[in-house]
Amino acid sequence: MEHGKYQRKTCRYCETPLGEAFLDLGVQPLANNLPRIEDSATPEFRCPLALVKCPRCHLVQLTHSVPAQLMFDEYLYVSSTTQTFRTHFAEYASDVKSRLGGKERPLAVDIGSNDGLLVSCYEKAGLRGIGVEPAKNLAKDANERGVITLNRYFDAQAVREITEKFGKADVVSANNVFAHIDDIRSVLENVRALISDDGFFVIEFAYLVTMLEKMYFDMVYHEHVCYIGVAALDVFARLFDMELFDIGEVDTHGGSLRVFMQKKGGPRARTSAVDRFLAVEKEKGCLDEGIYRRFADRVLGFRLRLNRMLADFKKEGKTVSGYGAPAKATTIVNFCGFDFRMIDYIVDDNPLKQGRLVPGSGIPIVSSARLKNHSTDYVLIFAWNFAPEIIKKSAYLKEKNVRFIVPLPEPRIL
Ligand SMILES: [Zn+2]
Repeated sequence: MEHGKYQRKTCRYCETPLGEAFLDLGVQPLANNLPRIEDSATPEFRCPLALVKCPRCHLVQLTHSVPAQLMFDEYLYVSSTTQTFRTHFAEYASDVKSRLGGKERPLAVDIGSNDGLLVSCYEKAGLRGIGVEPAKNLAKDANERGVITLNRYFDAQAVREITEKFGKADVVSANNVFAHIDDIRSVLENVRALISDDGFFVIEFAYLVTMLEKMYFDMVYHEHVCYIGVAALDVFARLFDMELFDIGEVDTHGGSLRVFMQKKGGPRARTSAVDRFLAVEKEKGCLDEGIYRRFADRVLGFRLRLNRMLADFKKEGKTVSGYGAPAKATTIVNFCGFDFRMIDYIVDDNPLKQGRLVPGSGIPIVSSARLKNHSTDYVLIFAWNFAPEIIKKSAYLKEKNVRFIVPLPEPRIL
């Protein structure tokens, strides 16, 4: 098997041997490597996309690991593009600050800092902010805007560089990246080395239980290697002499958690939220197999329904386009087998994505101006977490009798 070398044999958290996948989404292209239209004839890299649960710590994870250098070199996702994210990270920085007890100019390091949005929010909140970002283009942009950003992976050398120049960190944060790193054991070890004894580590990630309950299987793509629940994270922290002390709920990606951890025996008391989440996960069956099998069955049912819906529109001579080309669009498009004959084009407001194709499909990504000039009957909102924002700014389509389709948790026409 050509993909055999990418198969993951042991759990990314606890190194227990992994068993069989419970959900197979097929052999898919990389969700964020959007080919340019002129390169459409070049074959794309593909790898199996499937989920397996660790029998010991219960971490849900991908069966295969795609080498990071194939995925993160040029990253087209820019967080500052939406107002939702700008507001979110301003609140995040003030939450972090309020937990530092009036410390003078505390040092906050953000791992996977993207275009530096959170780092600049740290600065505005009175912290010293430093970003670490492997994508060249994003790190360069951030530095040009005066946001200090190390262009590299977060490894032992990055920790040395930061501690020599700036000292130990009072806070290390990682948002929607903690679940994206294959060698996460070394990351936690390095975080531990970077934070001061009274410092803390805060991560934000899309919550496993929300994915299972709301059917958000489109958050599964190669870059997103782990699907984190509190139970698995609790085991993981202990393996590295860390402990969870608080958990908050946020809704950026339709159900995310913000989890705080410190060195074992650190100064912060464990809040009741941690035990509450652990109890709820156990009660819901997240440590058993049944919940995952039921999820997989519902995902297969979803594909049937959405395919039937689009096939019916085609039979009636209607046209379908899409809104939003985030990573999750690649997953739905490829899992459902859509191509440019089913979906004429997908509009996206990020200019970096325009003029490219949705991986594996030949569907072109264009500016939203296309919707004004080209008639379409249905707009399938792949960026469904921004559906209200998208529908509001596309109000002119209503007059043209264009209908919106929100795919998840169940395909529905608005
Ligand atoms: Zn495990």
